[in-house]
Amino acid sequence: MRPSFVLKLLSTVLALAVFVPGLTFGPADAQVIKRKLPKAGFQPLMRTGTPGVGYSSNQGPSQMVSGSSQGMHLVPGLDRGNRASAGDWYDPGEPDLKMQWVRWEPRKMPLRVWISPGLQLPSLAFQELKATRVDTVAQMCFQGNNPNPFASLTQVTGWNDEMGEAVAAGIEMWKPLEQEGLFSYDFTPNPREANILVFFNDNFAGATEPGGISTGGYTCAQAIPYAKIAEALKEGKNPRTPPVVMELSLGVNSTLEKLKAATAHEFGHALGIKAHSPYRDDIMHENRVVEQLSQADKNTIRRLYKSRTQWVL
Ligand SMILES: [Zn+2]
Repeated sequence: MRPSFVLKLLSTVLALAVFVPGLTFGPADAQVIKRKLPKAGFQPLMRTGTPGVGYSSNQGPSQMVSGSSQGMHLVPGLDRGNRASAGDWYDPGEPDLKMQWVRWEPRKMPLRVWISPGLQLPSLAFQELKATRVDTVAQMCFQGNNPNPFASLTQVTGWNDEMGEAVAAGIEMWKPLEQEGLFSYDFTPNPREANILVFFNDNFAGATEPGGISTGGYTCAQAIPYAKIAEALKEGKNPRTPPVVMELSLGVNSTLEKLKAATAHEFGHALGIKAHSPYRDDIMHENRVVEQLSQADKNTIRRLYKSRTQWVL
């Protein structure tokens, strides 16, 4: 499914969010991979308490953007074949924003990624996900001071820790790019400090169509005009922006290998590659067939993170 555009009605409240002064992150560490994945089961979800971080769902101007990947492979697509060159890249722009580019701000680095222990968000008709998912998760996660904000969610049947490790490995496929200073990220055991949260399901509700195509993953985000962020920063505020929500189907991604590759694709969306590559050689092809990042995938994220964008995550 192509990402599609949903205009989020703008709140009259222009405040981007509750501002959190003094919210700072440690330095990026490109070498040490810290995995603190929550184990199967619920007890270890929160090991450390964090002060309540306020959050408002009134985000000001923003656009709901999303990306998804299909589980079906026998589909049309271009092959570079012998025409591949070291400089290949594709346009990562958001189709629903007239292909404008979207990326995380440098001040957010390192991004914090929380992989839930197989938790399933409330089932929702597939076409409604992009309109509500980010707000739903943000409200659960950031409102109040609940140390275990997802305690009410159920775990997908059959979940095990190996699946969490496969997802982490898929996310880490983008990590070599950190060494180029483009972006950085690590894992957190605390969903309340996460920029990117990963959930699971058996299958996406309503995603199975008569043609037999099922969705393997879906990533929802809200892009915000950088002008609004810059304004708040100028006033000495530290605006908190909405998280990105990834969901992965354990039904479609029925092996650890499939789960890892599907995760790598969705994390490409989470980093800001919104459009799909037209080439089957790339992990960001809509109907991904490869299991590694291509040269074009790497070139594309490089271009994106070396650019100034008007829209940010
Ligand atoms: Zn996709």
